[in-house]
Amino acid sequence: MVHAMIARHYLYGGYYPVGGSWRIADTIIPRIQATGGEVFTYARVARILSDGGRVTGVEMSDGHVIQCGTVVSSAGVANTFGNLLDAEVAADLGYAEKLVSVEPSFAHLGVYIGLKDTAENLGLPRTNFWIYPSNDFDADVEAFERDPDAEFPVVYISFPSAKDPDYENRHPGTATIEIVAPAPYEWFRRWEGSTWGKRGDDYDAFKAHLGERLMEHLYDKLPALRGRVDYYEVSTPLSTNWFGGYQQGELYGLEHTADRLRSDWLTPKTRLKGLWLTGQDILTCGVTGAMMAGLMTTTAMVGLRRMGPLMKRIFN
Ligand SMILES: Cc1cc2nc3c(=O)[nH]c(=O)nc-3n(C[C@H](O)[C@H](O)[C@H](O)COP(=O)(O)OP(=O)(O)OC[C@H]3O[C@@H](n4cnc5c(N)ncnc54)[C@H](O)[C@@H]3O)c2cc1C
Repeated sequence: MVHAMIARHYLYGGYYPVGGSWRIADTIIPRIQATGGEVFTYARVARILSDGGRVTGVEMSDGHVIQCGTVVSSAGVANTFGNLLDAEVAADLGYAEKLVSVEPSFAHLGVYIGLKDTAENLGLPRTNFWIYPSNDFDADVEAFERDPDAEFPVVYISFPSAKDPDYENRHPGTATIEIVAPAPYEWFRRWEGSTWGKRGDDYDAFKAHLGERLMEHLYDKLPALRGRVDYYEVSTPLSTNWFGGYQQGELYGLEHTADRLRSDWLTPKTRLKGLWLTGQDILTCGVTGAMMAGLMTTTAMVGLRRMGPLMKRIFN
């Protein structure tokens, strides 16, 4: 059902925020501040503190402690129960056992491309490309997991600047393209723990090779772009780990198996009083999945009866 909903959403065209994806944060932050909230970036939580079955606060990675009775975590359940809660607490509440029953979703490579001409002049489409080497997706994934030089089982290409009617006002005479393709985390495990931008020549060479292969997929579909690319940068599952905190680079959080979607513990309310979950792991992946998870968590926290008036206040 979840897949059918996502497929239907794309069949009639997707959505793209005017002004670029950062407008999502830019629109939400003033709303949070208007109600007395604060937003911090580069503020990593090291531990969720609890005492006697209740949340008592969070300890930041710089040792600073914020005392509070309520914590809502969208850092993913693997992080929340596996890293942020003390191991003893997670085991006592049964979460250590539950975590073993779920898998991370596939990790990915990203290619972020800049061009020195407009999307219009370059003839960039507004649609996304989904490129498959054959109809046997499962066999293609298996072959790829065994051999990094096998065909990518899927390559996704999108054209953000072509979709954004405001882009030309902000960055005249330029365009952007994004490529996303799967890549098993295992291929990168040997560089685990290294620092972003300083992972070594062998890592850079492997990354460059994968990036060149993905660029060929782009040129295969749009040959006129050869020689027009100004710059590109490749990300790996270690980049997703570095920037997003996903331990195995799993951009979509937990694997979307039937068991996961049936489980009774991936819900907003946790077994620790005052700790709530939100984000893609308690519903389904994607921006809309995460947004609706936010609505679910709010509803669970304030109760259905208070939700109506709250929605009126938010949207009026
Ligand atoms: C390249 C790429 C392209 C994508 N394109 C699309 C698309 O076109 N459409 C779509 O619908 N979805 C897309 N997605 C997927 C989408 O981004 C995710 O499904 C969505 O962001 C999940 O939202 P979330 O709030 O659950 O988690 P996140 O957006 O990952 O937010 C979790 C936040 O928690 C923070 N965090 C983690 N650990 C800690 C800690 N210890 N302390 C403090 N903060 C912490 C992370 O830094 C992160 O900011 C894309 C993803 C990627 C990587």
